[in-house]
Amino acid sequence: MKQSEMLLPTLRENPADAEIKSHQLLVRAGFIRKVASGIYSFLPIGNRVLRKVEAIVREEMENAGAHEMNMTALQPSEYWKETGRWNTFGPELMRIKDRHEREFALGATHEEEVTAIIRDEIKSYKQLPLSVYQIQNKFRDEKRPRFGLLRGREFLMKDAYTFHDSYESLDASYEKMFTAYKNIFSRLGLNFRAVIADSGAMGGKDTHEFMVLSEVGEDTIAYSDSSEYAANVEMAPVVTTYEKSTAAPKQMEKAATPNCKSMQDAADHLGHPLAEGIKAIMFKVDDKLVLVLSRGDHEINDVKLKNLYDASMIDLATEEETREAMGAGFGSLGPVGASGDLEVVADKAVEALVNVSCGANEDGFHYVNVTPEHDFRIDQYADLRFIEEGDPSPDGQGTIVFAKGIEVGHVFKLGTFYAEKMGANFLDENGKAITLIMGCYGIGVSRTLASVVEQYHDEQGITWPKQIAPFQVHLLALNVKKDEQKELAERLYTKLKNAGIEVLYDDRKERAGVKFADSDLIGVPLRITVGKQAGEGIVEMKQRANGEQQEVTEAELLSKVT
Ligand code: ATP
Ligand code: MG
Ligand code: MG
Ligand code: MG
Repeated sequence: MKQSEMLLPTLRENPADAEIKSHQLLVRAGFIRKVASGIYSFLPIGNRVLRKVEAIVREEMENAGAHEMNMTALQPSEYWKETGRWNTFGPELMRIKDRHEREFALGATHEEEVTAIIRDEIKSYKQLPLSVYQIQNKFRDEKRPRFGLLRGREFLMKDAYTFHDSYESLDASYEKMFTAYKNIFSRLGLNFRAVIADSGAMGGKDTHEFMVLSEVGEDTIAYSDSSEYAANVEMAPVVTTYEKSTAAPKQMEKAATPNCKSMQDAADHLGHPLAEGIKAIMFKVDDKLVLVLSRGDHEINDVKLKNLYDASMIDLATEEETREAMGAGFGSLGPVGASGDLEVVADKAVEALVNVSCGANEDGFHYVNVTPEHDFRIDQYADLRFIEEGDPSPDGQGTIVFAKGIEVGHVFKLGTFYAEKMGANFLDENGKAITLIMGCYGIGVSRTLASVVEQYHDEQGITWPKQIAPFQVHLLALNVKKDEQKELAERLYTKLKNAGIEVLYDDRKERAGVKFADSDLIGVPLRITVGKQAGEGIVEMKQRANGEQQEVTEAELLSKVT
């Protein structure tokens, strides 16, 4: 491709709103342009890379037995109302009305739509298992769109969905997808970890996130330095107990068994799905007040506090007891209610949307920060500890290391969460209607592309790994006004193209300095410079990543490139 004919605008300065390297470099090198906050267009060179990432994703999806389809961006609100997510997804779900005042969601994800399609089309166990995927723009009205492609409001996602007649079948597909994900991120040259994740709103069971290790990641992961163990620290939770004697709700007693090591365990034992955003579950068992926390740094919101309060206090007998149990902070929230209805208690406990941030002060005491004014020392009441760096790992191998991660992929055993709500059944061998079992699997394709840049750049620009580089060769004619340079460059351009090599040919009437700077910025793996020695048929070849250079003759060039 001739650079003089291409929409490839480069910038010397970083855009004012670009805080991180991938954002700065992708804009400066002419890969993307901002249209609105969190909304980016891909210019031709950016589009080439995007298509290459997609191609790798497609290959691995097809290998895993998934078939590509293409669902709509406009989704009738009815689907979302069936699962309740029209409300629970909150303001992140973009909504529009048509001229008849009918409501639609802009696809933030496609569990509802795909389940609706499958519900109508799949009737028998003989048609299962089934695996579909698509690669298409998603819409989420993120509260804080930032970091360029990392957190967009319109972004490219690969989403896959599998349907099963048994949990064994789901396990098998999950395994295949897991392998496909490992292949995808390895093929992209990314340094990543698959981490145990929080199943949040989906109410499923097994779930893993694929995290690219990066300082700019918004998640913190805890991983073993000598084994495969890795978890999102949201999932490295705390179970603390408070010795106290009150009556024991049976349902909750179950939840406080020694097996209850995580929020998910607690929710499972209680027999309730975890609502999205849950950061703590608190319940009372026999002589114990059990508090399961996940850590995070979240804003405090009155409604959520109220929910916490309702959920955690409702079954404590008196306000005094509550104060004593939980510390002064909670007492100030208002009078303590009482309820004998265990269903309600359990329900509220798991639905409680509570924002707590946890940390230790200098003397090692752990605090639960409920409001800025109301810290209380939980260690006075209980034995509380988080996973820390340097701890032995949970699987008995190595020690725990903390790192920041970018969530590029997420695999999820959904179980019957959607199918049940949407009435998606199949007939088993005996003609009995059974609820479909599902899995879902997402990859942020545009986020992944930016993650590659986070890991592949230097002071001068991007250093694309070959497999997704926009071109394999950047051919520079340093001075197109010199006939011998122009002629040799044109000849080489044709030769390389004919050999099936993707060449970006800088044939612009620009100074050599500009060409070199742009070339480093764009980051094509191999640069071939036609300059002063063109008359002797000699060009310079330079590897972008390690700076290695050598002089080559026209005759030997092709063999050196391929
Ligand atoms: P996050 O925790 O970063 O908000 P998520 O857990 O909400 O992501 P999922 O619902 O799991 O995202 O979606 C699947 C994948 O889509 C994610 O793993 C991520 O790679 C990508 N993704 C999600 N939100 C965005 C976004 N706003 N911009 C770009 N990619 C995104
Ligand atoms: Mg999100
Ligand atoms: Mg996430
Ligand atoms: Mg996720």
